[in-house]
Amino acid sequence: MDKIVILTFDVEEDCPPFAETRRGMEEGLPRVMDLLEEFKIKGTFLFTGRIAEEFPELAERAGKKHELGCHGLEHERFDRLSFEEAKRRLEEAREILSRFSDPVSFRAPNFQFPDMYYRILAELGFKVDSTKARHKGWGEGVTEINGVLEVPATTTSIVTRLPWKIQKRFHRKFESPIVYIFHPWEFVRMPRTLRPDCWFGTGESALEKLRKLIEFHLDNGARFLTLREFYEEYQKLKRE
Ligand SMILES: [Zn+2]
Repeated sequence: MDKIVILTFDVEEDCPPFAETRRGMEEGLPRVMDLLEEFKIKGTFLFTGRIAEEFPELAERAGKKHELGCHGLEHERFDRLSFEEAKRRLEEAREILSRFSDPVSFRAPNFQFPDMYYRILAELGFKVDSTKARHKGWGEGVTEINGVLEVPATTTSIVTRLPWKIQKRFHRKFESPIVYIFHPWEFVRMPRTLRPDCWFGTGESALEKLRKLIEFHLDNGARFLTLREFYEEYQKLKRE
């Protein structure tokens, strides 16, 4: 496989649980989708069920022009929930998202998801997960966990908000498939009363850096895939 880049967006309220606003969806996400569509690139938009209910037009656009996936029901910590409760919430989230698309991709909030719970994902028809993260100590590459393909996240979202000259060095070194994580609220200027990682580099400059990142990888011949597309190519390669 050539170099593959997967742009994922965790679609949730602004910097949870520190802010209660929805500016990421009101102001940020439409512009992000415009940018990707300008480049004819598809993003993977992992919505919480509640945000999909609140912003159905965005969930629909994600489902039609990109990939719509799942980021829990209401940004809960699954490692603090029983198996039954986790299942109930994932069923509800899936039911909501299914009104717009047939979701197959998942990432748990806060990168917390017990391996045993992957069975719930498989049972509900999810095929690919991106909860494991290198910056959270995950050392393996793409692998399978309890019937779900794990495509680990490459880096934390703060990296893509660093000055371009600095972050560029990272992009060169990242191994394929490179899975980036963004959030709608990063593309809106967040108030400095929040934790520094909630406002650092947010706003217009984050959008400019996303444009630079796309151009950088296109110039280097990378291919942009959604998580679902990656899963499909991976299955095909496995069969060959
Ligand atoms: Zn999240």
